[in-house]
Amino acid sequence: MAILELEEAKIPMTLERETNPWEAQAARFDLAAKKLNLDQGIWKVLRYPAREIIVHIPIAMDDGTIEVFTGYRVQHSIARGPAKGGIRYSPDVSLDEVRALASWMTWKCAVVNIPFGGAKGGVICDPKKMSQGELERMTRRYTAELIEFIGPEKDVPAPDMGTNEQTMAWIMDTYSMHMRQTVTSVVTGKPVNIGGSRGRREATGRGIAVVCDQALKALGMMVEGCRVIVQGFGNVGSNAAKILFDKGYTVIGITEFDGALENKDGLDIGALLLHRQKAGTINGFSGGKAVDKDELITWPCEILIPAATENVITSKNAARLQCKILCEGANGPTTIVADDILEAKGVFVIPDILANAGGVTTSYFEWVQDRMGYFWTEAEVNQRLERIMVDSFEDVVSYAKSHNVNNRIAAYMLAIDRVAYTTKQRGIYA
Ligand code: GLU
Repeated sequence: MAILELEEAKIPMTLERETNPWEAQAARFDLAAKKLNLDQGIWKVLRYPAREIIVHIPIAMDDGTIEVFTGYRVQHSIARGPAKGGIRYSPDVSLDEVRALASWMTWKCAVVNIPFGGAKGGVICDPKKMSQGELERMTRRYTAELIEFIGPEKDVPAPDMGTNEQTMAWIMDTYSMHMRQTVTSVVTGKPVNIGGSRGRREATGRGIAVVCDQALKALGMMVEGCRVIVQGFGNVGSNAAKILFDKGYTVIGITEFDGALENKDGLDIGALLLHRQKAGTINGFSGGKAVDKDELITWPCEILIPAATENVITSKNAARLQCKILCEGANGPTTIVADDILEAKGVFVIPDILANAGGVTTSYFEWVQDRMGYFWTEAEVNQRLERIMVDSFEDVVSYAKSHNVNNRIAAYMLAIDRVAYTTKQRGIYA
């Protein structure tokens, strides 16, 4: 039996299935492909990743022992350009998660119409428990294991959860040492002084703020009095909160892995960032009241921004959400069962593959700047990012209207159609 038929066999929806990111991706893909009347052959090509690499990475730990970490790199598609996507360091990484994230990168790059395919990497480890030296050795060995699979024209990694600019600098250096020349365009999200782009660090948050503005316009709502709750205060959540705060939105709640804060008059995000820098946590901030983090996301607000991990909005809490707009800063924060509940409630969803595409869009700018060796000002980067986000929002929302589907399925349909078109045009190599 073909793999597609096997997967299509109806299996009951358990919470375990509902929260499996690969199944979440595949279910939306199937729905959109069906609506598009996608050719069965192309359906099979696009449903599964093109390449899945597993590496076991031995590392000398600081205490003299040797540890072996498992890492993945999944390249879903190179139909529209080099594979592109971040690398995640987390104890929860699994092959199914990396597969899903790689596919989402393909759809995300196609939604914003940048010339990349999709990929993702991950290493099962707890970066919070590792020293800088251990992280550096692990990153370098992981890069060395993948050396023939990555490259500016092949597959271009970037940061994701648990990795940052320093990680990208190590990858760039390791790759460059193997090539015997400096190759900055092998990764994006690097420090600005070694080929990084101005504005990249804030880009995902900035993109989120742009689509929030657009959603308000589309729904005839005002920034004034617009209450926002942000779940997750990492790179994505903190920058989104800060940019929205600067634009005049009222950020009434922030949740983190170790606590949550609320202030009905609005949290001063600038002051909160300073507090976090000193205290190492959002807890103890005098400008807000500590509240239960699982409850806070269900509070009344105009915009809810899940900006951390997958499976935050599920069959267990979707019915209790009271937001008007759900803007997905994280990848896969909403399960397929929750999708139906939110649609019935009339929540306006800005799906992940559109909402958080600002990061990879500025990664594209970084790759372009590295390849030409000429760097733009922050204002130029932000202006180009804003134009792409505004146009892509418009594309998705008008596609949803004209095809009578919700925003998420519209984004998938738009993306799948673009990738399918290129795949057919290139033909199947044999
Ligand atoms: N990890 C980010 C994402 O999920 C950025 C990817 C990139 O810049 O390549 O979109």
